Amino acid sequence: MTHILSIDEGTTSTRAVAFTPEGRIGGVHSEEIVQHFPQSGWVEHDPAEIWNKTLRAANRVVEDVGAQSIAAIGITNQRETIVFWDRRTGDPLAPAIVWQDRRGAAICADLKARGLEDDVQGRTGLLLDPYFSASKIRWALENWPEVREAAKAKRLAIGTIDSWLIWRLTGGLHVTDATNAARTLLMGLERCTWDAGLAALFDVPLDALPEIVDCAGRIGETRLIGARAIPISGCAGDQQAAAIGQVCLDPGAVKSTYGTGAFLLAHAGATPPVSSNRLLSTVAWRLGGRAAYALEGSIFVAGSAIKWLRDQIGIIASASETAELAASVPDSGGVAFVPAFNGLGAPWWEPEARGIIAGISGGTTRAHIVRACLEAMSLQTADLLDAMRRDGVSPSLLRVDGGMVANDWLCQDLADVLGVTVERPKVVETTAIGAAMLAAVGYGLFADLESASVMWHAERRFEPALDEEARSVRKTNWATA
Ligand code: ADP
Repeated sequence: MTHILSIDEGTTSTRAVAFTPEGRIGGVHSEEIVQHFPQSGWVEHDPAEIWNKTLRAANRVVEDVGAQSIAAIGITNQRETIVFWDRRTGDPLAPAIVWQDRRGAAICADLKARGLEDDVQGRTGLLLDPYFSASKIRWALENWPEVREAAKAKRLAIGTIDSWLIWRLTGGLHVTDATNAARTLLMGLERCTWDAGLAALFDVPLDALPEIVDCAGRIGETRLIGARAIPISGCAGDQQAAAIGQVCLDPGAVKSTYGTGAFLLAHAGATPPVSSNRLLSTVAWRLGGRAAYALEGSIFVAGSAIKWLRDQIGIIASASETAELAASVPDSGGVAFVPAFNGLGAPWWEPEARGIIAGISGGTTRAHIVRACLEAMSLQTADLLDAMRRDGVSPSLLRVDGGMVANDWLCQDLADVLGVTVERPKVVETTAIGAAMLAAVGYGLFADLESASVMWHAERRFEPALDEEARSVRKTNWATA
């Protein structure tokens, strides 16, 4: 038994990665997930596609490393995205409503207008924003007859992607881990149980929701990967998994992940932090029935802006050429790029905002626009880090990961704009490592997450090299935009 298999079901791809207990990658396979944009602000996935491609990716990796070598499976996933399926058949009843989807905006605005946000924040650590699952569920029950009728007939199962995959892998086990449940807007943060008052507020039938379990332990067992029984012993939402995979195990340790979106998490210890600056309070993990907490800032658009430049606008041929293009000009030439494609997340929380490219002149080239797009990553992160500082978290080191941090230019720009050391690990698939660490602990390979942290290895540090004045000019221009 030499590998832990991580299943990392992300927004744009689903991946399977086999790790050795030392954190080396033994095998990896990934499949693209098709994005559906039925109207402005809507984003959907096909749950059947997610399941089929995930299973295929997992089996490909198992073929490479050998089924006998897989000790246990850890699952990590895009959070908040919600799936509706039929308990009798296990078939999806509707498209999955993706975390970026804003269709619940009116439901949230109505509850906000009724003055309910403070109460909801106090119970869940979250804000009344369509990002979280609850308003998506209510929208589906109101607008999709198949979902409503299944609920009436007590046939409806609702779950985030972890639940959906575990149901299919185990043939009908309906569970979710506490980190995923924490993102639904339906879980009480202190006790990690479904809050009946919130379920009533969003008209969500409690009997359709999964049981909330720990992030490590004997969660279930599958016979669909490698054709023998393998325990599923770890589970966490992708950002919490990345924080674990970056060994942010002590209060004040911070990581930022740059994938489709970007997410800054600061470990906050054994009690839920309270943000006065519109950051989120969330579960970092729950082990042995006890939760640890984190402060989080969520940016909805990061790598997806690069993908947009490539696929929709066509001014780059590949994501990797952005580093060279950005370096080819001394600055953005006054261009500011605010990639608010699906509204703005923390600390602004403006669901109706949309993107802008400002400050264009006759001399603007594609290099300036590409550079401004990358700079937006650093500036969005600076907004979050400044909010965290006001909430009392002042890190001197930021660990970064995700598909975008292959970009050295971006890592240096982050250090420059944030004024902190930026550290990149050897394996940037920290989400998958975190799920593997949890699965290894749940399986008994390591006693705790601290022991499992031998799976993490540093690669390179980027030190801030921008003077205070230049930093402040960039931040002011960004704030104006
Ligand atoms: P997710 O897990 O959210 O699906 P990943 O962590 O796989 O995303 O990151 C993929 C994203 O990173 C894509 O949106 C892509 O545009 C972006 N990306 C990949 N390589 C680079 C690069 N060298 N520079 C900038 N962006 C990149």
